[in-house]
Amino acid sequence: GRTPLIAGNWKMNLDHLQSIAFVQKLAWTLKDARHDTGDVEVAVFPPFTDLRSVQTLVNSDDLPIAFGGQDLSEHDSGAYTGEISGAFLKALDARYVIIGHSERRQYHGETDEQIAAKLTAAHRHGLVPIVCVGETAEDLETHGPSAVPVAQLRIALGGASKGQEVVVAYEPVWAIGSGQAATSEQAQQVAAALRAVVAEVLGDEAAAATRILYGGSVKASNIAGFMREADVDGALVGGASLLLDEFSSIVRFRQ
Ligand code: 13P
Repeated sequence: GRTPLIAGNWKMNLDHLQSIAFVQKLAWTLKDARHDTGDVEVAVFPPFTDLRSVQTLVNSDDLPIAFGGQDLSEHDSGAYTGEISGAFLKALDARYVIIGHSERRQYHGETDEQIAAKLTAAHRHGLVPIVCVGETAEDLETHGPSAVPVAQLRIALGGASKGQEVVVAYEPVWAIGSGQAATSEQAQQVAAALRAVVAEVLGDEAAAATRILYGGSVKASNIAGFMREADVDGALVGGASLLLDEFSSIVRFRQ
């Protein structure tokens, strides 16, 4: 089976001092023997300026928390002011990197082709890309639920290296930060369509192993419904990942 992944995308929240306090408290709640998190993998995605602090804390205390970047450059080094290379993330022990978040697409004009190049860069540096796809409310009205995320994923996966791990996150743009999550049935329908794209591009074995996350207004009260769906293997959590009790309840979705 696929190991469930609960990932917290902090976006532009928590400075490096706040990140240390948060990760320490999160580790305490996860270690609490009364709250068995089972086989669930937990990952946090802090701002770049926090990563060194999070790495030091996680490594020194051997915490069961993975971490990664919220973005990376498609280039490895050079004259790209403000950019962060996959090599730098790997050097900080990052396991994952989020690619193609709708906020990057919307505010930074990231294209599907650029996202494919970023996916290649992630694999080149041994990072596991979490590729985000999702339709806007307008896309939903015009094309239905699956067409846009399916098309986005097909192009992005063109940058994948065979045999290397990919995580897919289905994040309907209309559900992000709106309090209006997709229903678990909607999430399942699109997740199944996305798994078919993974099969088409990377093969059946890769499709069976690839984790597909749902993201968009995930909270403690709706996570169990998503996790019951056959093709939903975890969540990419925004706002609720900044609330300690809420996030640790999401991680313990089985209780
Ligand atoms: P919210 O959980 O705040 O809706 O954000 C989802 C998201 O964009 C995670 O990447």
